[in-house]
Amino acid sequence: MKIISNIKDMQTRCLAARAAGQTIAFVPTMGFLHEGHLSLLREGRERGDLLALSIFVNPTQFGHGEDLDRYPRNFERDESLARECGVDLIFYPNAEAIYPADYATYVTVEGPLTTTLEGTCRPTHFRGVTTVVAKLFVIVQPHVALFGRKDFQQLAVIRRMTLDLNLPVEIVGMPIVRETDGLAMSSRNVYLAENERKQALALIDTLGLSVQMVRDGERNVSKVLESARQRLHVEPDLTIDYVKICHAQTLAEVETVDQESVMLLAVSVGKTRLIDNGSILC
Ligand code: AMP
Repeated sequence: MKIISNIKDMQTRCLAARAAGQTIAFVPTMGFLHEGHLSLLREGRERGDLLALSIFVNPTQFGHGEDLDRYPRNFERDESLARECGVDLIFYPNAEAIYPADYATYVTVEGPLTTTLEGTCRPTHFRGVTTVVAKLFVIVQPHVALFGRKDFQQLAVIRRMTLDLNLPVEIVGMPIVRETDGLAMSSRNVYLAENERKQALALIDTLGLSVQMVRDGERNVSKVLESARQRLHVEPDLTIDYVKICHAQTLAEVETVDQESVMLLAVSVGKTRLIDNGSILC
């Protein structure tokens, strides 16, 4: 396994692999790896001759007052987990290399895909995500890139960008990996104090209750959302950013639940922002 920080070196190495006929699988992350990331790496290992992982805490996707400075990092641990998953190349650039002082180019997916849900609460977030992912695609030149459905809207936005820019990359969406008690794995879970960690389970509980309601015959979205909000409000340190039921592809809000409906939730527990989602009619 090689660790490469220099952009030109990474690009040269990846272009050479391509020229030699190798298939490149790529997993972009912000590091502090957990089983969710590792599931993407294992799938990438199956799909590529060369498996590349990037670790980059991307400043442009954090808004003012968000957790950029305290985002958890542990490169040594990430390195050994990556090795166990059979990663060939870790791309580990610094922010100055990705965004030099005179940097001026951004990639933006416009319209409702980026202005709803996370886009409402974090207006500059997706511009940062699409910019860095586009840059990483140009550097790594992957045939296939793997993303988690944990970040459901991000996956939809990246699919849109890839289609719109005719990028020759297959985008693979992978299932959410959860702790045994159901909390979706996230690097940010380490922020949670013990009592907050318990309250965070309201997310999976709310998803489960909503699925059950639909199974019992309720199809009216307002009613399902009303009961979801009631469940979330039980937790004293939890504040709701949004709870919505949307069409899985367009992310447009729907009035009636069907097979394409997905529930998306964003809450803060104490100071920690958490997101989760799930199909509502399974
Ligand atoms: P991050 O390091 O948070 O930017 O995440 C890197 C990639 O891992 C993204 O594609 C995420 O959607 C994915 N990911 C994060 N958490 C999970 C999880 N619990 N299950 C599956 N994929 C995940």
